[in-house]
Amino acid sequence: MTWGGGFGGGFGGVFAGGGRATTGLPFGGIPTELLDEATRLLDSEPARPPSARAFTQRPSAAERRPLSLTQLLASYRGLLAIASLLVLATSLLLQAGPKITEYAIDHGMLPGHRSIRVVVVAGSLYALIALINVGLQRWQTDATGRLASRVMHDLRVRVFTHLQRLSLDFFTEEKAGVLMSRMTSDIENLQQLLQYGLAQFATQGLTMVVITVVLFATNVELAAWTVLLVVPVLAVLSIWFHHASERGYLRTRDRIALVLADLSESLYGIRVITAHNRQRRNIANHRHVVGAYRDSNLYTGRVSSMYGPTTNLIGILGQALLLGIGGHLVLEHRMSLGALIAFFLYLNRFFQPIQLLVQQYNALQQGRSSIIRLRGLLATAPSVDEVADAPALPPVEGRITFASVSFGYRPDRLALEGIDLEIDPGQTVAIVGPTGAGKSTLAKLVNRFYDPTAGQVLIDGIDVRTVSLRSLRSQIGLVPQEPFLFAGSIRTNLAFGNPHVTTAEIDEAVDVVGLRDLVERLPDGLDAEVHERGQTLSAGERQLLALARAFLARPRILVLDEATSSLDLKSEQIVERALDRVLEGRTALLIAHRLSTAERADRIVVVDHGQIVEQGTPRELVARGGVYAQMHAAWVAAGGQGAA
Ligand code: ATP
Repeated sequence: MTWGGGFGGGFGGVFAGGGRATTGLPFGGIPTELLDEATRLLDSEPARPPSARAFTQRPSAAERRPLSLTQLLASYRGLLAIASLLVLATSLLLQAGPKITEYAIDHGMLPGHRSIRVVVVAGSLYALIALINVGLQRWQTDATGRLASRVMHDLRVRVFTHLQRLSLDFFTEEKAGVLMSRMTSDIENLQQLLQYGLAQFATQGLTMVVITVVLFATNVELAAWTVLLVVPVLAVLSIWFHHASERGYLRTRDRIALVLADLSESLYGIRVITAHNRQRRNIANHRHVVGAYRDSNLYTGRVSSMYGPTTNLIGILGQALLLGIGGHLVLEHRMSLGALIAFFLYLNRFFQPIQLLVQQYNALQQGRSSIIRLRGLLATAPSVDEVADAPALPPVEGRITFASVSFGYRPDRLALEGIDLEIDPGQTVAIVGPTGAGKSTLAKLVNRFYDPTAGQVLIDGIDVRTVSLRSLRSQIGLVPQEPFLFAGSIRTNLAFGNPHVTTAEIDEAVDVVGLRDLVERLPDGLDAEVHERGQTLSAGERQLLALARAFLARPRILVLDEATSSLDLKSEQIVERALDRVLEGRTALLIAHRLSTAERADRIVVVDHGQIVEQGTPRELVARGGVYAQMHAAWVAAGGQGAA
């Protein structure tokens, strides 16, 4: 099946089921007015099976190999061979010019050898070869362009897929902006290198080899002088440049990543920045990171500016010396005048590629430093990973067991310690406790956002670490503390966990969580657009949407992390009723700030300082007169609406 066929069908499906399309990618579909064009475009695209591969948590053998330029190019051997042949052909053809000139001078212009026929034939041949060369160069640019776009496409998909595999701790440690820079500027750098740099580099390198051979063929003595005088100095200079510029470009890559990280944080946090009048400090900070980036650019610029002109100088001094030596050879009749002129034409072409090589070498170094950074990113293994050939978790009843579980985000500080907890299938357990007690952390271990440092988390008696992540997470619904909505319609956001839901099911979910009012208020109803991160909705509405999303995914186990914390009393009551429906027959872990939510649970577990300090039914705990009873008394005293 081609991409066109696949996507064409896919769009049809989205529109048939989803009514009007809305803006926003990738979950919002494609606007109707662009659909025809998009389908036509995709129909014209060649089939490209690698990116159509289904996502697997474990990377394939090819994906596990360290990233390198050769590995990237290896998948396109055919195209690479064509491009290389064309590079070879153009490099060779270009060198015919001076030889024709030599022939025209020695056999058509010198006294005793004047021949207009030789001159005309030589001139026509020169023009013909130049024309053929232009044609070949066009093909070569086309081939390298195609090669570059395909390799870039594969690389982008590979890096993105890798990011999808990585675990939560990675995203906590790594700044989003730094990752964005890997995905944008590092990859762009490679694009430049692949599209122009490599071919140029190969052409110039080959040209130098060809010319060296031709120089020796023209005059061995003069060629030997050239190699002796110029090559050793150039070699030493190039080795220095290689080291200095690699250091500089690696630093540049890191610093541009910091610039982008600062930029993205400032954009995301613009409301807080404005509210706290932090603009001036922010500008100073940005000036600092941008300044560091400028300094690293200045350094690489300085290195290049030393290398470029110095190679130039070596070239000029070399030519001056060779003119003396060559002139002497002509005067002594050990070399013809035509041969000397041809030699100098070649010599120019010998130094010209050195200049170009310097420029291309810069691109190569930049590309290399990007590859080194991307290789580092791709080599990061997810801390939460599947075992090889992990079996799927069979459909579960929903018994959750924490067996002597301890966990710390950092090795020196445990967030949970010695947790033993058993939740029966269909039971609703509320976790309560003070801020920072470890409630959310407990929930994060169930669907393996993190793995315990000690002990086991079991579902229906099966250690969650032994089964595939996909099968585990497909049976666990999560409503996080800060619900995230994607750019797209309300419909696509609701169908996020289960894209095959019908409109009737979506309508049911909307009614169950009490979102009907909102949907009817919006001009486009379910197809109303939700801006990125749900900025156009209230915090409570975002929570309700997240709840409906979890409801639609129909998981066996539901984890609700303070799912009602942003709701007003009326909405909370609606959600409380909704929860009865949503939780029906499901095992639920309810992290509750409000005691009204906790009170509805079958069992309450009180967590403090990473340990379970009390558990029992709400009634038992109140009767026991412990921590929960105190919280409860405070809540009742505050009119039954206080927070836990
Ligand atoms: P709240 O009621 O405020 O949501 P909580 O009981 O859910 O609190 P947790 O989020 O589980 O608390 O956090 C438990 C402890 O772990 C806290 O001390 C917190 O600072 C720490 N913590 C949480 N997330 C991380 C993280 N990603 N890296 C390091 N420490 C973390």
